This record gives sequence, structure tokens and C-alpha cells, in this order.
Amino acid sequence: MSSKSFRVVVLPGDGIGPEVVAEAIKVLEIVSEKSLDFDLKLESHQFGGCAIDAVGEPLPASTMTACLEADAILMGSIGGPKWGVNAAVRPEQGLLTLRKNLGLYANIRPANLASESLLDYSPLRPDIARGVNIIVVRELIGGAYFGPRKEQNAEPNVDAAWDTMIYSVTEVQRITRVAAQIALSANPPLEIHSIDKANVLASSRLWRKVVTETLTNEYPQLTFDHHLVDSAAMVIVSHPRKLNGVIVTENLFGDILSDQSSVIPGSLGLLPSASLAGAPSTPSAEFKPTLGLYEPIHGSAPDIAGQGIANPIGTILSAAMLLRYSLGLERPAQAIEDAVRKVLDTPAHGGHGLRTADLGGKATTKEIGDRVVEALLGLL
Ligand code: ATP
Ligand code: MG
Repeated sequence: MSSKSFRVVVLPGDGIGPEVVAEAIKVLEIVSEKSLDFDLKLESHQFGGCAIDAVGEPLPASTMTACLEADAILMGSIGGPKWGVNAAVRPEQGLLTLRKNLGLYANIRPANLASESLLDYSPLRPDIARGVNIIVVRELIGGAYFGPRKEQNAEPNVDAAWDTMIYSVTEVQRITRVAAQIALSANPPLEIHSIDKANVLASSRLWRKVVTETLTNEYPQLTFDHHLVDSAAMVIVSHPRKLNGVIVTENLFGDILSDQSSVIPGSLGLLPSASLAGAPSTPSAEFKPTLGLYEPIHGSAPDIAGQGIANPIGTILSAAMLLRYSLGLERPAQAIEDAVRKVLDTPAHGGHGLRTADLGGKATTKEIGDRVVEALLGLL
């Protein structure tokens, strides 16, 4: 029997990026080794600050080409004080270009507790944080981040400046469909919460109209509601379970709300993300993006880089999302998530599961990776 081969481009990046990515690679290699049906071909490329140091630009042409030809991309994190805001070339410019060139318009960030045993780490009271299961779907390449902008008069005499929030019907339709497909992939289907500022903004009025029409006409089996962004921000910290399901929102609101909801589980180091391209054109229960970039939600954490103590779980869970969304491999994706939960829950030294320093433990990055691999071997 011939096994299917998938090409996965790995961009370790800067700071703790290479450290956490190394553990996710171990996990993917075990998944590949244990499967008779498919084979993962992993190849690393330079991207971010390390690429600026090596070749003078954050996104070398060879990296761009490899990404375009990949089945999926796994990234660590990029940037750091060495390439700060005043540097002529910055790593973040490379990331914006990469997202735009690959058409990665849908950013998916689950914000749920990987384990009940982490409730103590949430900044919210346990009775408020318990049972939160929110997936934020943020539009990533439109709105105020990419609309026309201008500063009136030249520096240092700028006396007015503006950014333009633009959304087309097509842009709202495709992100709504992604949210709907994700809602449908759960059993039972998740509820959708669309978030906007339709009482003030014209772009939000269009957003609300298109979301309503798309969901009503194409996904009659799904339930949805609308929230104003200011009220939603309040609900996320006061009654987050009310927003359980899929939150769908535009770029700027999504930037803020996804960071806000990501603190609920207790550490930045725990959470994965996916940025997807390729619109689902017809309503169906199966969602296959044309390309996806997967990365933990945290940054390069220069304060702890090189010490081997970063939490690799967000990156390992990003690898699970990669298998699920880009390669359609639900079973190993689920197995990785179960293995992570097992490591967090199985009592280690002091009564609770194995933890890195961000969760009050002493485990190293490598120890967590090794234990996840060990747990995974029993689940695949
Ligand atoms: P960026 O601008 O790249 O998003 P940031 O300034 O938001 O970066 P991070 O790099 O995410 O910040 O780090 C914020 C804090 O969280 C730091 O103290 C860092 O050490 C900690 N942190 C981030 N990721 C991890 C991780 N995987 N494990 C442990 N601690 C982490
Ligand atoms: Mg940040």
C-alpha cells in the first residue's frame, strides 16, 4: 500500500521559537513513524530575525517558495529586542508579507482549558473560568490593518492621521463560512457569536448583514447571535461561558478579543493558533483550507530564551491543529491533545502533573516534549 506524503515546512524563528518547535517536531515525527497511511516530510527554513542576520531580510525568497509549495507550515515565534521597532528591517514585516502572500485570512485561536487542573492559574475565579470553550475566528488580512492610511503633513508636524476600515461582502462571507465549518465540525455543532460595532460603524453594519445572510441561507442548521464588541469584552471576563462556541469577528476586534480570551487558561505558553487560506465555497461538514500556518500564540520570549524552560505545549497543540485542518488527520490530532492532557493531569513530583515554570513547575521544555511523546505512543 502506498502511503501519502505531506510536505511540512518548519520555521523555527527566534528566541524560544527553535526550542519549542523542536518538541513539536518530535511529536510530528512519532505520528509519522507510527502511521502506515501517511508520511510527514519536515524541512526547516530561515524566517524572522535569524534570516535578517543571515541574509539581510526576514522572508528570504527561498523560504517564500518553500511555503508556497508546502502542504502546511509550522512556525515558532519571531522577533526580539535585537530587531526592535527602530530597526530598518523588522521580522514582523516578514510575517505580514507571508500572511498576505499566502492569503491567510482566517486566524483560529481556541481558548479552552487543556486541563481542569490548570484552573488555579487562570486570572479569573475558578467558577468563572471552568468550562470555558471558546474558539476565536479572526479575519486576518482586511479591515483597518490593511486599508488606506495617511498622516497629514510630514513628520514632525503630523496634525492628523487616519486608518480606514474596509470590508467587502466577499471578505465577510468567506470568514463567516470558515466559522460555520468549524462550528459544524463539532458534535453537536457549536453556536456562533458574531462580534461587531454595528451601532456606530458602517463596516460593522455590512458585517452584520452579510454574516446573517450567509448563516441563514447556507447554514440553517447553525444557531448564531450578534454582540457589540464593548459588551463582548465585558462578557469574556465576567461570564465567558456565555460566549462558548465560535466567536467570529473582524481583524482589529479579533486582535484584542483573542488576546483577552487567551489569558483565561492561565498561560500564554499553552495556546495554539492556525492561520488559514482557501475559502470553503460550498457549505459542507468538511473544511479543507488550501494552506495553513500554525504557531503558538506567544512571542519569542527573549527573557527566557536559551534556558530550555519555555512551555512547548502551545506549539505541540499547534502541530495537532496542523494535522486536523491542513492534512485532514483528525485521529492523530486528537491523540496529541489527549497526550498533552495526560501529561498535565498525571501526578508527577509534587502532586500535580508535569509543569514548566510558567505554570509553577520545574520541568524543562525537553522533559514536557518527551513525556508527551511517551503518552502519545500509548494512544496512536
Ligand atoms: P510578541 O510581541 O512577539 O507577541 P510579547 O511581548 O507579546 O511578544 P511574549 O514573547 O509572548 O511577549 O512573552 C510574554 C511573557 O510570557 C514573557 O514573560 C515570556 O517569558 C512569557 N512566555 C511567552 N511564551 C512562553 C512560553 N512558551 N513558556 C513560558 N513563558 C512564556
Ligand atoms: Mg504579543
